[in-house]
Amino acid sequence: MKTLIKNGLVIDPCNRVQARLNLLLEDGRVALVTRQEPPADQVVDAAGRVVTPGFIDIHMHEDPVAPDGRLVNTEETAIFNCMLRMGVTTAIGGQCGISQYDPVAYLDLVDRYGAAVNVGMLAGEAFFRERAGHDDKYTPVTEDELAAMERELAQALEGGCLGVSYGIRYSPGIDRRELERTAAVCRRQDKLIAAHLRSDAGEIMDAAREFLDVGRDLGLPVQVSHIGSMAGFGQMEEFLQLVDEYHMNGLRVSCDCYPYYAFSTALGSTTYDEGWLERYHCDYDVIELSQGKYKGRRCTKEIFDEVRRDEPECLTVCYVMKESDVDLAFSHPDVMLASDGIMNYGQGHPRAAGSFPRLLSEFVRPGKMALYDAIARMTAMPAEKLRLAQKGRLNAGADADLVIFDPERVADQATFEEPTLPPVGIDYVFLGGRLAARDGKIVQGDLGRSVRG
Ligand SMILES: [Zn+2]
Repeated sequence: MKTLIKNGLVIDPCNRVQARLNLLLEDGRVALVTRQEPPADQVVDAAGRVVTPGFIDIHMHEDPVAPDGRLVNTEETAIFNCMLRMGVTTAIGGQCGISQYDPVAYLDLVDRYGAAVNVGMLAGEAFFRERAGHDDKYTPVTEDELAAMERELAQALEGGCLGVSYGIRYSPGIDRRELERTAAVCRRQDKLIAAHLRSDAGEIMDAAREFLDVGRDLGLPVQVSHIGSMAGFGQMEEFLQLVDEYHMNGLRVSCDCYPYYAFSTALGSTTYDEGWLERYHCDYDVIELSQGKYKGRRCTKEIFDEVRRDEPECLTVCYVMKESDVDLAFSHPDVMLASDGIMNYGQGHPRAAGSFPRLLSEFVRPGKMALYDAIARMTAMPAEKLRLAQKGRLNAGADADLVIFDPERVADQATFEEPTLPPVGIDYVFLGGRLAARDGKIVQGDLGRSVRG
């Protein structure tokens, strides 16, 4: 079937194009880009709309696998559905060291049953740490465990994982030797390493150096994850300077950030280990609980202690980031947009369902960022970092994953109270040349396939 998308403003930063052009889609690819109107079976008039490559979310947390061996896919609340409704066509899971499941087996499940979006994976280092038999996150691994991790991580990369992710914050027992030996498996195929750094706020500079040194010494591409929630407490300028210094001395380093001024994590996580009040210079009331009997309430010391003890999985929203720091991150030429979305059966941070439209409504429309620049941060930059040759672009021959949106209307709707609400103004999302979502509703939710490198 041939689909013609006509009259739209095509913005494709990978190809350095911003022009009114028509696209003919056929057999899952962009067959032709033209000023003509070739005959087609289906015509979409995109007049007044912007047509871009489908957004690529380089850092999100995938849906879990249900007991029946399929991906959890509840229409309203599955994160891949949230991704699709906001225009993401390729999502990269396995982040912050966390894999929900064996990552290669997960990619196989995506290929067997389909998913709402195309799915790529990093191999989560903590998953393999546990699988090697080390379940104490505070202590270093043994030599035998490390050897097992190296072997298994190498297999995961062979199976198509795009790199290795670390959650150094969540596994403080990781030492330099573990970082180096596990990262070294990426060298053969020059795959990337990504990290949620060891610490944030006042401790961010040492934490960043620790990880950037590993990338430098091994010569690997590096991605520093969700920097707003790492250096967004008054350290952003100095942090970005440090990143630029490494970059200018040969390190292939880039960062991602989500466009919100509050972060989200489980109350039992190491983020809230002893010392967090001092680190963020705050009191308990910066935490809002997203789940359980205190849902919607701000913390007191009593609530904090009780929930951390009894329901450590309870998700929280923490209001400690500085607006000016997040804005500064997005003014840096090498910071891409990523949602860091995480959904726990419909509960969580609205970034999972709103990040991409939000950059357009909160940064582009008020004039903080050019539209072309925003699209680059959502498409070309992640595609280039991940070396996805057919995605994040719309030239003839590229995969026909694309979004059509109304630049005047597009906006996120998800809130901390209702974190899965779909955005408005995302008119069409195509995956592999087929209509996957229309006006915030999923039309076909199983078109996604694995993305392997
Ligand atoms: Zn993280």
